[in-house]
Amino acid sequence: MRLSRYFLPVLKETPSEAQIVSHRLMLRAGMIKQSSAGIYSWLPLGFKVLRKIENIVHEEQVRAGHIPMQMPTLQSADLWRESGRYDAYGEEMLRITDRHDRDMLYTPTAEELITDIFRSNVSSYKDLPLTMYQIQWKFRDEIRPRFGVMRGREFYMKDGYNFDLSKEDALHAYNRHLVSYLRTYERMGLQAIPMRADGGPIGGDYTHEFLVLAETGESEVFYDSAVTDLTFGDREIDYDSVEQCQGVLEEFTTKYARTDETHDEALFNEVPEERRRTARGIEVGQIFYFGTKYSDALGAQVQTAEGEKVSVHMGSHGIGVSRLLGAIIEASHDDNGIIWPEGVTPFHAGIVNLKQGDAEADAACEALEKALEAAGLEPLYDDRKERAGGKFATMDLIGLPWRITVGPRGLKNGVVELTSRRTGESEELAPEAAVAKLIEIYADHRVTGI
Ligand code: ATP
Ligand code: MG
Repeated sequence: MRLSRYFLPVLKETPSEAQIVSHRLMLRAGMIKQSSAGIYSWLPLGFKVLRKIENIVHEEQVRAGHIPMQMPTLQSADLWRESGRYDAYGEEMLRITDRHDRDMLYTPTAEELITDIFRSNVSSYKDLPLTMYQIQWKFRDEIRPRFGVMRGREFYMKDGYNFDLSKEDALHAYNRHLVSYLRTYERMGLQAIPMRADGGPIGGDYTHEFLVLAETGESEVFYDSAVTDLTFGDREIDYDSVEQCQGVLEEFTTKYARTDETHDEALFNEVPEERRRTARGIEVGQIFYFGTKYSDALGAQVQTAEGEKVSVHMGSHGIGVSRLLGAIIEASHDDNGIIWPEGVTPFHAGIVNLKQGDAEADAACEALEKALEAAGLEPLYDDRKERAGGKFATMDLIGLPWRITVGPRGLKNGVVELTSRRTGESEELAPEAAVAKLIEIYADHRVTGI
């Protein structure tokens, strides 16, 4: 992509309405524009990152054996009356009346609709287990939308639902989700710690929230610092293996890590003092087993092998896809701007031409652009007639992890400069060697389907 042809409305001024760094940087980098409170347009650069995050979520869900589908954003109120949530949901639900005076709503979540699809189509234990998910826009009329995409009113969420014959099977689905979420966040360069959360009115131990530690997080969290040493890494996992998934759950949830809702001071005090931490975190996901709450209310039953009719055991599992952009930036930035992890960066590398219009420099930049594209990478070539300082500032602000700087002086010696956004370190390389190095760096960070 040539920057001269792209739409990147970078702001020089720091927007005064933004209170936290991720919101400021998303506005300054021309990623989003607010259209009304808590509702945003996703400008090209923001949209590109959103898609990358979405694709990682898809890949990891499909890897875990979960089936993608899509439900509508507008739903009839009738189903929600059946479950009792039409009234219980409160003012966060956006209620709409259509021309025939029918009550509709903009989906804040989709347990009712998916359960309706299930009950209309599945009646035998033979069709279980089943887990389906969607990535879809949600609306919650938050009283205080703030922090940009972190607490929007319209936001993009992955919501998945499992249907199982028994509690035991449903807990395997729960564990599978936990494992797939660990992989998902790590691919985005994030550490998201599963913490025991509040089951709400349903109660029970079976809900975990995934928290990214950040000063600007809205949740207060308490944990044993040893949990921050845990990584899933690139280990192989068989998602059908009950033992393996259970093993990962135990590994990641045995040490103390809780949100303030479930915090237990006495238990916390059993953690050695030097490892006790109180901090803030951003909730980027939550998994939940809730038994037969919705299947009882909506009559989602299957026949067992013995011919008995039983309500299915369910859970729901969410990832805050649009919130993740904010969370990643909170966790990865410096004074000059964003620092994208390789897994989600909108462009893989920036190419900065120090002397636009110089025949040799222009040709070298174009050759680099072509070579990177031929390797399946997406460069952003700053081909504008701007001062070098301005070009560097833009690249630093938008946070591409790698920058290739091309100028007549280097080209005389047959080299370009490859700079890491994260460390600021540069090395001089032949253009082909720079391309080869980027191909190697991104070998482990390919997101398909863009
Ligand atoms: P919160 O406690 O932050 O209000 P929640 O627990 O109500 O979130 P869930 O129903 O668990 O949200 O939704 C799944 C995920 O969707 C959350 O973990 C979060 O990452 C994301 N999410 C929820 N509400 C918002 C919002 N208003 N804006 C952006 N993302 C959101
Ligand atoms: Mg939640």
